[in-house]
Amino acid sequence: MVSEAGTELHTAGHNWAGNLRYAAAQVREPATVAELQDLVAGARKLRALGSRHSFNRIADTTGVLVSLEHLAPVFEVDPAEMTVTVSGGTRYGTLAAELQRQGYALHNLASLPHISVAGAVATATHGSGDRNGNLATAVAGLELVTADGVILTARRGEPDFDGMVVNLGALGIVSSLTLDIEPTFGVSQTVFNALDWDQVLANFDDVTSSAYSVSLFTDWSGDRISQAWLKSRMEGGPAPAEAIAERAGFFGGNPAKEPRHPIAGVPGTTCTQQLGVPGPWSDRLAHFRMEFTPSKGDELQTEYLVPREHAVDAIQTMRRLSHLVTPLLLVSEIRTMAADSLWLSPNYGTDSIGLHLTWRQDQPAVEAVLPVIEAQLAPFGARPHWGKLFDGDASRLAPRYPRFADFKALADRLDPEGKFRNDFLNTKVFGS
Ligand SMILES: Cc1cc2nc3c(=O)[nH]c(=O)nc-3n(C[C@H](O)[C@H](O)[C@H](O)COP(=O)(O)OP(=O)(O)OC[C@H]3O[C@@H](n4cnc5c(N)ncnc54)[C@H](O)[C@@H]3O)c2cc1C
Repeated sequence: MVSEAGTELHTAGHNWAGNLRYAAAQVREPATVAELQDLVAGARKLRALGSRHSFNRIADTTGVLVSLEHLAPVFEVDPAEMTVTVSGGTRYGTLAAELQRQGYALHNLASLPHISVAGAVATATHGSGDRNGNLATAVAGLELVTADGVILTARRGEPDFDGMVVNLGALGIVSSLTLDIEPTFGVSQTVFNALDWDQVLANFDDVTSSAYSVSLFTDWSGDRISQAWLKSRMEGGPAPAEAIAERAGFFGGNPAKEPRHPIAGVPGTTCTQQLGVPGPWSDRLAHFRMEFTPSKGDELQTEYLVPREHAVDAIQTMRRLSHLVTPLLLVSEIRTMAADSLWLSPNYGTDSIGLHLTWRQDQPAVEAVLPVIEAQLAPFGARPHWGKLFDGDASRLAPRYPRFADFKALADRLDPEGKFRNDFLNTKVFGS
C-alpha cells in the first residue's frame, strides 16, 4: 500500500524474536530524506525502527514506526578522513562487505551482521576485545531529523555530540552516520573447548587479552567453560597454525577440531569460519553468517555490562546463581569492551565485561529471575544492555550514568513535545 505522501505503508508486525508485537498502527518507509522530514514534521507520535532485533519495547510507539530500509542508499568513503558515511538503515553485513571490497575495515562487529547501523548504535551494541570500544564509538558524525523535521548534523568533538550517539531513538531519526574506518585486516578464528574455570578466573586478564576479540561461552554450571572463541588479527603475529599449537593447553581447554556453534545442537556451519583459517575481518569478526538465522531464533536475550575491576567477582556471582539461571538458558557469553565517553553507553567511563544471557523463550520465567540477577549485580554497578530484556527503571539506572540528567535535558530540548517518547523511555529513562 502507498500513502498520500508516497511512503510505503505496512502493519507493524513483531520483532525478530517474535516475543513482542509492536503497538504501532503502521510502518512507513520513506524513500528520500525529504520524505522522512515531512513525515516527522507531520506526525504526532513516531519512532525509528531498525532491523527489529531488540528484545524489549525500546523501538515501539503508539504512533507510526519509520523504517529507513528503503531510504536511498548512501555509501561514501572519505579516504583522507578515513571515514565512511552510510544511511541509517544500512545493515552491518552490507556495509562490511562493501568496505572490504574497497580495502577498508571497521574496528569491530557484533555477533550478528544482520542489524542496522543506526539501530545498533542507538543501543550501544558491541562486539568484544579489551581495546575495542562498542560499535557506537566508531561514530564520527551523524545526521538527525529532529521533531520539527529539521536536519541537525553533529560531529565528534562538538557540544552534546557524546549525548547524541547512543540515543535510544529518543532524539529523532538518524538518517545517516559517518563511521571511522581503517585499512582492511585479516583475522583468524580459533575455538577452544572445555576451559577450566579456576585457571580462567586466576588469569582473567591474560585470557581476555590473548586475542583481538575473545568470547567465553558458558551455562554457569560446573567447573568447565564450554567454549572460548579467539579472533586474532593477522598483522605481525604468528601464523594461525603456530598460534594454535602454542595454545594447545589454553587455560585447560583444547582446540576444537570442527566448527562449533555456541548453542548446543545448532550446526557450526552457520557460524563464521573457524579452525584458524585466515580470512577478511568482514567474514570473521561477527560470530554468525549473514545468510543464516543468527544464534537460534527461538530465544530471548539479556545482558549486563559490569566495570572491568569487578569482572571476577561478578562472574563468581553469576556462577552462584546457576541453580536459577542455567535451567532457563540456551547459552551465556562473556565479552570485554573498552571505556568510552558516550553519555548513555553502558561502557561510559569504564572498561567493562559483558555478561550476556541467551534465554529459552519463556518470558514469564525469565522476567521472574531478572530482578534477582540485578539485585546480585547491583553492588558492581551493572548497567543493562538497552536492547535486551531487563527489569530496572529510571530510578535505578540514573545513579549508574553520570550524564543521565544531561541526556534527559538534551531530549527535552530536541523533542519538547515528546514525539519520540514511548512507554519504554518513560519507564527506563524519564521516570514518568
Ligand atoms: C541474534 C542476536 C544477536 C545479538 N548480538 C548482539 C551482540 O553481539 N552485541 C550486542 O551488543 N547486541 C546484540 N544484539 C542486540 C542488538 O544488537 C540490539 O538490540 C540492536 O539495537 C538491534 O538493532 P536494530 O537495527 O534491530 O534496532 P531495533 O531493535 O529495530 O531498534 C533499536 C533502537 O534503535 C532505534 N533506532 C533504530 N533506527 C534508528 C534510526 N535511524 N534513528 C534513531 N533511532 C533508531 C529504535 O528506535 C530503538 O530505540 C543481538 C540481537 C540478536 C537478535
